[in-house]
Amino acid sequence: SNTPYNFKDYIRVIPDFPQPGIRFKDITTLLKDGGAYRAVIEEMRAAVQHMNIDIVAGPEARGFVVGAPLALALGVGFAPIRKSGKLPGETITANYDLEYGKDQLAMHKDAITPGQRVLIADDLLATGGTIATSINLIRQLGGEVVGAAFLIELAYLTGREKLEGIDVFSLMTYE
Ligand code: 5GP
Repeated sequence: SNTPYNFKDYIRVIPDFPQPGIRFKDITTLLKDGGAYRAVIEEMRAAVQHMNIDIVAGPEARGFVVGAPLALALGVGFAPIRKSGKLPGETITANYDLEYGKDQLAMHKDAITPGQRVLIADDLLATGGTIATSINLIRQLGGEVVGAAFLIELAYLTGREKLEGIDVFSLMTYE
C-alpha cells in the first residue's frame, strides 16, 4: 500500500513479558499516536469492506480498542466478548485452555441476531485460542463468522490453522 506509515515502527517489543522468553508486542505506542491509530483502522476497514459484515465482535480488552473503531468505520454495531462474570444480562459461555489453567469467555444471548455476518477483531493472533473460543460463542448464537481481523499475527504460533473457512486479515506479521 502507499501509506506513509510503517506500522511496525509503532509497535514496541518488550522482552521477557509477561514471562521469560516471551517477546511481547506492545500496541500502546501505536494507540497514543492519533494519526497512526486512525491509519491502522482505515487499512483494516478497507481490507474487510468486501466481506459484507453485519456486526463486529471483539474480546476484551484490546479487542475493544481495535473492534469498536473498526465497527464505526464500517458503519455497523459492536458485540463485546468478555471474561465470565462481567456481563449483566443473560449470557452463554465457552471455556478455553491457557498455558496454565483454564478461562472462560462470555457473550450476551442477544448480542448477535441469528444469521448475522460477523467479523471478529483483536489486536493480536498468537495460538488462536482466544479467537477459537470467540468463534464458538458466535456460532452458539447463530452468527456466521465470516472474517477475522488483527493488527498483528505471530505466524510462528500458527493460530491461523484454527481459522479454517474464515477470511483472515492481519496488518502486520512477525515470522
Ligand atoms: P492467543 O489466544 O491467540 O494465543 O493469544 C492472543 C490473545 O493474547 C490476544 O487477545 C492478545 O491480546 C493477547 N496477546 C498474546 N500475546 C500478545 C502480545 O505479544 N502482545 C499483545 N498486545 N497481546 C498479546
